[in-house]
Amino acid sequence: MKSKPKFCPSLMCLDLLRPESQLDALSRRADIGHLDIMDGHFAPNLAISPGQVRAFRQASSLPMEAHLMVTNPEFWIDVFAETGVEEITIHRETIDSNAFRLIRRIRELGRSPGLALCPATPVEHAAHLLDSIGVLAIMTVDVGYSGQKFIPQMLQKVESARELREKYRYNYEIQVDGGCGLDTFNALRQAGADRFVLGSSLFGYERDINAAFDRVLREYKEATGEEPR
Ligand code: MG
Repeated sequence: MKSKPKFCPSLMCLDLLRPESQLDALSRRADIGHLDIMDGHFAPNLAISPGQVRAFRQASSLPMEAHLMVTNPEFWIDVFAETGVEEITIHRETIDSNAFRLIRRIRELGRSPGLALCPATPVEHAAHLLDSIGVLAIMTVDVGYSGQKFIPQMLQKVESARELREKYRYNYEIQVDGGCGLDTFNALRQAGADRFVLGSSLFGYERDINAAFDRVLREYKEATGEEPR
């Protein structure tokens, strides 16, 4: 039997004028706070500094994942571990020469390592790393912005990730990042997704974050027929 889905609000999308009340509400509702860290090089945007993460953690008891969309993750792993995040996810495309060393480093720092794949990177490119990670993050939009259109070819990649996990008895959770919502929940869940990053589908409509979260749970149930909680 599948475990319950996990919902991971993208904290880049918090209301910048009142993040504290939204964080407080999400602490009671969501599973993991997703932090999009962008350096303006690997991802064509700038987002979330270590100082902001420390502030978020003061306002929230949510476990958090730092998704490092940066050209040089080796400069940032220790920095973000120090903020206290539970999980640090690095991109396959940024770790050609030191993949094993960096994953080991994340573990040494007491954090759970994740691996993220851009839409253009096949899951086979991660084959040698799949037994050492806690989450495999499949990007279903290109890195950089919230609110982009879901890339449907990524469903096949989610399926491949699930098949590899079954075949080799790996332990990673499959996370989908980009375009998760009413129109995609069912196909993604059927394909094997365990965790859904929520950006504009959660933050893009209501002012009241509790009402928004209720709506997302309703949409999940409507789409999949599965009780989300
Ligand atoms: Mg992300």
